Amino acid sequence: MTADTVVVGSGPNGLAAAVTMARAGLAVDVYEAAEEIGGGLRSQALFRPDVVHDICSAVHPMVAASPFFRGFDLLARGVELRQPEISYAHPLEGGRAALAFHSLARTCERLGPDGRRWEALMGPLLERSPGVVDLMLSVRPNPAVDPLSALRLARRILGHGSPLATRQFAGEEAPALLAGVAAHVVGPMPTPASAAVALMLGHLAHGSGWPLPRGGSGRIAEVLAADLLAHGGRIHPGQRVTDLRRFAGIRAVLLDIGAKEFLTIGGDLVPAGYRRMLGRFRDGPGAAKVDYLVSGPIPWTEPLVGRAGTVHLGGTQRQIFRQETAVARRRRGGAPFVLLVDPCAADPGRAAPDGQRPVWAYAHVPNGDPTEPAEMVTSRIEQYAPGFRDTVLACRGISAAALEAYNPNYVGGDIAAGAVTLKQSLMRPGPRWDPYRTPLRGVYLCSAAAAPGPGVHGMSGYLAARSALRREFGIRQAPPLGPTT
Ligand SMILES: Cc1cc2nc3c(=O)[nH]c(=O)nc-3n(C[C@H](O)[C@H](O)[C@H](O)COP(=O)(O)OP(=O)(O)OC[C@H]3O[C@@H](n4cnc5c(N)ncnc54)[C@H](O)[C@@H]3O)c2cc1C
Repeated sequence: MTADTVVVGSGPNGLAAAVTMARAGLAVDVYEAAEEIGGGLRSQALFRPDVVHDICSAVHPMVAASPFFRGFDLLARGVELRQPEISYAHPLEGGRAALAFHSLARTCERLGPDGRRWEALMGPLLERSPGVVDLMLSVRPNPAVDPLSALRLARRILGHGSPLATRQFAGEEAPALLAGVAAHVVGPMPTPASAAVALMLGHLAHGSGWPLPRGGSGRIAEVLAADLLAHGGRIHPGQRVTDLRRFAGIRAVLLDIGAKEFLTIGGDLVPAGYRRMLGRFRDGPGAAKVDYLVSGPIPWTEPLVGRAGTVHLGGTQRQIFRQETAVARRRRGGAPFVLLVDPCAADPGRAAPDGQRPVWAYAHVPNGDPTEPAEMVTSRIEQYAPGFRDTVLACRGISAAALEAYNPNYVGGDIAAGAVTLKQSLMRPGPRWDPYRTPLRGVYLCSAAAAPGPGVHGMSGYLAARSALRREFGIRQAPPLGPTT
């Protein structure tokens, strides 16, 4: 059977695009450079066969909130999203820790006078969470957006995405909590883009949550691939596409690849104007990943931190702003911001029978940084969990520079597939009415380099596929995504 549609890349967006096209009744072929499918959704047993590590993404606030995944219905396919009691924790000097419980009320209780302010910040966003999610996970500007959600978000972005950010709270805990979430953008801070992400992820922490898929992120890729195969799709791993001409005559080609890779494989097919636009697309700072096998729970000075799925290690708001801005300006040095995930906090089954377990962490570093990060990240964890080093049985560090070899979308270790600036949030990959459509006939960009941007939500793939269905096949109606019996 000749394919109607080709998808290049099998990350969450590539698979979402492929599933959407196949569900519309089209024949779909997926080509993936790596031997394993999944892109940012790969999980692997690194050190012993019964302990699974998430190689890239581990925690899934956007899966829980995403319209694509809500329609796809992971639970009905056997993938349980497990909520930790504490969505994220933020240890501070002196054995203190700020805690964002799944419960907004419990979070506010611990924040003293800032509890009221946290409630005023997150409560109204929670009330209109579907509107906030639609705004953040769709193409922008989006005329269909709920105006009250947009207004509430915009007001808060002004306060938290500018130098005013340092004046919004009285104590140290609440601003550190919010700065830790904002740091997920990996870039200079405070900015409107970092505030928007902080408010989106921050309110979800008290709503649909920051869950982990039982058994690891790879489970999500597995069920996406299973649905595709069940609807006649085919997957070809271990095939890096080097020239788009290979797909001449295919009606729709959806590319789950970065801007630079598009220019490489498009070669002289890409018109000068579009080439210039993608040439201006900026990479963000890098991430350097460390996977640990440890002998037992992390010995946090504040034991409650051990109940959090995600832990932000970055110190106070001011320290995070300073360090993140330095990294974005390609300055090395200073204790890095580290994101740590303890999967067993939500999914105790991730530990082996003898208690050995995975710990996942990455540090923010300048783009292309070649430093092997294990020692740097271990020292940062030790600062808040003395004795952690003694629990480490094995570890593997991957520098920012090496991440690109693992996945060409992460240029210089930029795990966002392009800097998350205000401009590149509003117009991603550039100023185009339909960000997915390219000037090449039937060719669409469907990766995190296109709106709405990074994270596992599948929306770039889904929206690109909807655009291709409309334009190339005249199919306007959204195909059903839920499980078929
Ligand atoms: C260390 C790390 C931690 C992260 N943590 C989280 C997290 O906890 N939560 C979260 O939501 N997000 C997280 N992310 C980000 C998230 O993984 C990405 O935003 C997401 O995977 C992007 O999806 P995508 O489909 O656009 O691209 P990717 O997932 O990057 O997939 C792209 C795929 O295309 C393939 N490819 C590229 N070029 C070619 C080619 N020429 N031919 C064939 N195949 C090609 C690649 O091999 C890859 O498999 C993390 C990322 C990293 C690296």
